[in-house]
Amino acid sequence: MNNTPVYDKVALIGIGLIGSSMAHAMRRRGVASHIAGYTHRAETLEKARSVGFADSLHSDLAGCVKDADLVVLATPVGTYAVLAEQIAPHLKLGATVTDVGSVKSAVIRDVGPHVPEGVHFIPAHPIAGTEQSGPEAGFAELFDGRWCILTPPPGTETIALERLKRFWQALGSDVDVMDARHHDLVLAITSHLPHLIAYNIVGTADDLQAVTKSEVIKYSAGGFRDFTRIAASDPTMWRDVFLNNREAVLEVLGRFSEDLSALQRAIRWGDGEALFNLFTRTRAIRRSIVDAGQDTAAPNFGRSKKPS
Ligand code: NAP
Repeated sequence: MNNTPVYDKVALIGIGLIGSSMAHAMRRRGVASHIAGYTHRAETLEKARSVGFADSLHSDLAGCVKDADLVVLATPVGTYAVLAEQIAPHLKLGATVTDVGSVKSAVIRDVGPHVPEGVHFIPAHPIAGTEQSGPEAGFAELFDGRWCILTPPPGTETIALERLKRFWQALGSDVDVMDARHHDLVLAITSHLPHLIAYNIVGTADDLQAVTKSEVIKYSAGGFRDFTRIAASDPTMWRDVFLNNREAVLEVLGRFSEDLSALQRAIRWGDGEALFNLFTRTRAIRRSIVDAGQDTAAPNFGRSKKPS
């Protein structure tokens, strides 16, 4: 579709699920003239080489970002500060530094101070992912029809912002712009809390003495398995998300705990009306997500009835 490069050279610092998917999506529409990838483990570099989504692969940061017009941090958020400090002296004047991290205020705090004068800095977060990791997990369609949120700090140049918007649109995304703090609160309820609940419920089931592990697995189709998909997400990435979005997560967790106590009370006192009303309200939310094109209406989450 779009064959005019939005940026000449794009440097991906991190080529796991998100970095490699960006590379595939860039190639699909000629969004960049040159895609450079950096990763720190030789094993990951080899895997990336065998998949073949980059024009050049690097184990040194300086070589990867040299002459790049767009530099994307796509590693766990906890690594950003050190990486930003290391790439800073090698950035081209007029380049844009961005990221894909799942939290945004902490990224501005950790990366912002290292970005040199004359280089743009526009954090971003594609709301798309799977529970898979690594360069072999990426695919070009990951961002299609999904939102990407940009959180430009005050004073960001409009031209640089518009260019990054066009970049994400060319990758298949719809783009929204918001303040980093607001992003963190929205994501705390839509992504971070659901992950915390999934990690917790799977952990609780694993710890239950009266129900055996084999029974938990055998009867998982009752609902449990849908939590296990989320709870299989990368431990490093999610540790960093909770450490770096502490305030917003604690705020929504407080609300969640209160609402859970209310449910507990409704069950204890046999308040069927309260339970029915809540479950009716939540069913409607599911319908609006499908209507907004953010999931399929296929029964059973699109799974075939019989296991293949
Ligand atoms: P991933 O598949 O695990 O890939 C992580 C990449 O970061 C790999 O290239 C890895 O290199 C590199 N890396 C890890 N630790 C590093 C370190 N200490 N120094 C330098 N490089 C390091 O992860 P991902 O799912 O693509 O996630 C990357 C970012 O995207 C995270 O910030 C996450 O918050 C964000 N994000 C993820 C999702 C999702 O669903 N997965 C969605 C939206 C945003 P080696 O393999 O060589 O160690």
